[in-house]
Amino acid sequence: MIRENVTEQGNIYGKWQITEDTWCITDGWHNFVYLLIGEEKALLIDSCSGEGNIRAVVEGIIEKPVMVLNTHGHFDHTGGNSCWPEAWMTKEAAVHAKEPFGPIHEKWFRSKPYQDYKIHYIENGQRIDLGQKIVEIISIPAHSEGSVAVLDKNTRFLFTGDEIESGQVIWIVRNQSVSLKELAQMHKMNMEKLLEFRQDYDYIWPAHNGVPLYPDRYIQDFIELDKLIIEGRQQVMEDTAGFGFPADNQTIVNPFQDYGKLCRTQYGTASVIYSESSVVYHNK
Ligand SMILES: [Zn+2]
Repeated sequence: MIRENVTEQGNIYGKWQITEDTWCITDGWHNFVYLLIGEEKALLIDSCSGEGNIRAVVEGIIEKPVMVLNTHGHFDHTGGNSCWPEAWMTKEAAVHAKEPFGPIHEKWFRSKPYQDYKIHYIENGQRIDLGQKIVEIISIPAHSEGSVAVLDKNTRFLFTGDEIESGQVIWIVRNQSVSLKELAQMHKMNMEKLLEFRQDYDYIWPAHNGVPLYPDRYIQDFIELDKLIIEGRQQVMEDTAGFGFPADNQTIVNPFQDYGKLCRTQYGTASVIYSESSVVYHNK
């Protein structure tokens, strides 16, 4: 018997309360999504992969209306959107939000219902009023086109999606017009942009692996690593093994196996997995 919130793999959603008005929800795929509760409505930052019924988990926490917002368009962040009739994301994120992440997910993705939710666009600098709680959108695209961070000045939390995290930030060069060095340049500019808001947050909450993160160390280390990549001086590790990532890209469950040889590089707390081959993935 399969219960509603138990996946085919036997996983179930977990949740925990971080502050009076902030919760974290996780699924069996090491995704962390966040529920920010205002006086009038709640904001769900990302929606996991579409397994089970994440809406039932959210409604088990609060009864207020929920606005679903995606940090970017990858399916492990947008898959649960369709539990609600609409979702908010950048125009660039919307291009890929209803596609599987990679070819190995095609069949599984096609078995998912409800891809017909309505998309509303958000943009850099936009403020969203949840009632006695206003969050701000900060555009930080590098890992994915259209990535945003969400700043909650009340709790002094910054939610960064996949653009900063403890295991590895993944840059798959999918578009031949953007090189690895250009991605590193974009990422460095984004890190410097987050430093401009540094007086407004104490902790970074990424979408994968360890949470929360100490901002001063992670942002500075990522800036240094970005610089090394821009200058072509990064150290390539022996293999890609790391926090939540397999040693090589041959593992059957690895969604990155179709993107050619991957490399890991790191500096201090910052680590990046990248593919230098330009692979253009078309969803067919
Ligand atoms: Zn992603």
